[in-house]
Amino acid sequence: MNILNRYGQLDPRLFHRQTPSPLPHPQPGHFNEALAAFLNLPTTLHQHWVALCAGSELPDGFDPLAMAYAGHQFGQWAGQLGDGRGLLLTQLIANDGEVWDLHLKGAGVTPYSRGGDGRAVLRSVIREYLAGHALNALGVASSHALGFVYSTQLPVQRETLEPAATLLRVADSHIRLGHFEWINRFAPDLLQPFTDAVIQWHYPDLTDSPTRYLEFAREVIRRTAYTIAQWQLVGFAHGVMNTDNLSITGSTLDFGPYGFMERFQPDWINNHSDHQGRYSYQNQPAIAHWNLWVWLGQLLRLGVEKEALQQALAEFEPLFLGYYQEGMAQKMGLAPTQEHFQLGMEFLAILQHEQLDYTNSFRLLAGDWASLMDDCSDRERFKQFSERYRQALNDSENEHHAQIHTANPVYVLRNAMAQHAIERAYQGDLTEVARLFELLSNPYETQPDNERPADRLPPAQGDSGVAVSCSS
Ligand code: AMP
Ligand code: MG
Repeated sequence: MNILNRYGQLDPRLFHRQTPSPLPHPQPGHFNEALAAFLNLPTTLHQHWVALCAGSELPDGFDPLAMAYAGHQFGQWAGQLGDGRGLLLTQLIANDGEVWDLHLKGAGVTPYSRGGDGRAVLRSVIREYLAGHALNALGVASSHALGFVYSTQLPVQRETLEPAATLLRVADSHIRLGHFEWINRFAPDLLQPFTDAVIQWHYPDLTDSPTRYLEFAREVIRRTAYTIAQWQLVGFAHGVMNTDNLSITGSTLDFGPYGFMERFQPDWINNHSDHQGRYSYQNQPAIAHWNLWVWLGQLLRLGVEKEALQQALAEFEPLFLGYYQEGMAQKMGLAPTQEHFQLGMEFLAILQHEQLDYTNSFRLLAGDWASLMDDCSDRERFKQFSERYRQALNDSENEHHAQIHTANPVYVLRNAMAQHAIERAYQGDLTEVARLFELLSNPYETQPDNERPADRLPPAQGDSGVAVSCSS
């Protein structure tokens, strides 16, 4: 294990050192062996993973701390937030030579808890565990986790009393856009050294450039545009895109009442508390742009020209569209031309009008078009689309089929799948979590021996899509 606790070397105003409050009587939830191997955890830690995830066994060299950050929540300045229930346990150099954060979520109260209980419930921990794993396997940059444990001896109050759980999260960074907001408001003298550290850690190619702050801004914008495009393409809705939930590396972080698109509905709101639909699926690119605008304002103090930052932000939309169009062409099995993109948009319009399943329908482009047409009420429209599509595919259909199969998953984490696994876990049976973990490890491959019919089944027609409680 190669420990490099670099965050704790920053100015102590940026964090609070403390040890986890262990989860009493922890029960094993699930452990990601492959990730543990990737992180080079010693075998003794593999064997003690339950104690590690419960926060009761702290390996030598770990340096647990709660980070301070701030943020805009639902468009409003929310002031100081910070790790109210999580601790950065350590930072490790993994097999890829990169530094990875180990962060224990649900580790008890900290100075940033703001009256909260410092805990997380089993329901939301299972959801985060499976979705982080699913996104990684789908090829979308995201946090994931080494494992989780739970305790029936520590009921915590949400809408009802629920078992508490801890999740040992792994991410390339836990630095959020909101870190810069906190520094500007509460410790502005730290802005320059902090930004230099972030550039050195996460954008090392820019370290020696005299215009590094502007280049850093442009790169954060580019990476964010890329990740959001990947979300739209796999049908992922984050649910709570507050500035404190967006990572400085562009990787997916802190997804709360997230969801994967089922019957295609662009204005789908998956967060039960999001009454205005601010964080609906189709708003995600615009919200990312808004968050980046807030963040860029924090860099003015570094002497970067306002006009230069505005120009950098103006790049967001063309970057996003470029990535999205390229990905959409791949999903269609076509080359990324404007004409092919229009074809993709027509396919989406049909899915929306017919309320067809997003994941299954794209996969069927390499399969049975007749069954897609059978599900359409406006068959003439589908026929016209399929004729244009056939022309675009022209001769080498097999090649296109292979491309479609690599760009469109068979399995995503549908809400009913997660819900079923949670219900079983609440009865003490974690086998369904383990089954989904396996299934979602290879989302592009059909797994007849491991699938259940519900894994490929959208909710009934007319079901307006599930909104998930944001309590966690
Ligand atoms: P989230 O909605 O999970 O991104 O959290 C937003 C903020 O609330 C962060 O500062 C969290 O640390 C804090 N928070 C959320 N739930 C709790 C809790 N149960 N106890 C203490 N702080 C919490
Ligand atoms: Mg958060």
